[in-house]
Amino acid sequence: MSRGLPKQKPIEGVKQVIVVASGKGGVGKSTTAVNLALALAANDSSKAIGLLDVDVYGPSIPKMMNLKGNPELSQSNLMRPLLNYGIACMSMGFLVEENEPVVWRGLMVMSAIEKLLRQRLYFFDFKVDWGQLDYLVVDMPPGTGDVQLSVSQNIPITGAVIVSTPQDIALMDAHKGAEMFRKVHVPVLGLIQNMSVFQCPKCKHKTHIFGADGARKLAHTLGLEVLGDIPLHLNIREASDTGQPIVFSQPESDEAKAYLRIAVEV
Ligand code: ADP
Repeated sequence: MSRGLPKQKPIEGVKQVIVVASGKGGVGKSTTAVNLALALAANDSSKAIGLLDVDVYGPSIPKMMNLKGNPELSQSNLMRPLLNYGIACMSMGFLVEENEPVVWRGLMVMSAIEKLLRQRLYFFDFKVDWGQLDYLVVDMPPGTGDVQLSVSQNIPITGAVIVSTPQDIALMDAHKGAEMFRKVHVPVLGLIQNMSVFQCPKCKHKTHIFGADGARKLAHTLGLEVLGDIPLHLNIREASDTGQPIVFSQPESDEAKAYLRIAVEV
């Protein structure tokens, strides 16, 4: 018996879904997803933006968006996203204990575990009450595994942006990520080159710690656009670590402007 591809079901109330992906971990995918969501909201205050963290084993959104706690259930048993800086957020981090990656509780009932074991995407099965969203930015786990495939096959995705540092090893994996999206017919909107340059705050000398133009070369090879370059900057790291993302806390900085420009391209 042949099995067709799972049917794509739109997420109720959500107009556009942008997934932020990377081949490798640690290249700045979550930082980009958070700041991109904030930049989309900042560029057009009439737009409603959501942020979904499906990085199951390393959810970063709660810390980066300074959010804690369990989502409430609506009367019709839908999970309500937590809200900060005007962005509606859902994360695995809200459903499991902090520092305890596989302690299920509260909302995570047995059926969800079963669905997880069957590698279904439980966020979408579980139903989140997103309200009306213009954009849902999805922070994917790194790599090209089951979750990435489930998301790509289960929901209609407007486009994927791929984050990479200019380092060869990151670019190789970014290349695989881009090919995966192509195989499942998800349009790749372009690459974001993160940590492309470090400028010494004292002497102003610029250093390309991870290489200079790797993402540009890869984009050229794949026929994709580079949506923008984000420098390696202490303020970006500190802002994320304190739960005050740079686009929210320092919107006038050059670093924030780099994200704001990217949001115009998306
Ligand atoms: P990923 O989601 O790819 O694993 P993260 O977004 O969690 O990566 O970023 C990894 C680390 O690098 C975090 O500590 C984050 O604050 C930091 N980081 C990401 N991008 C930058 C940047 N452009 N400048 C400085 N630090 C960054």
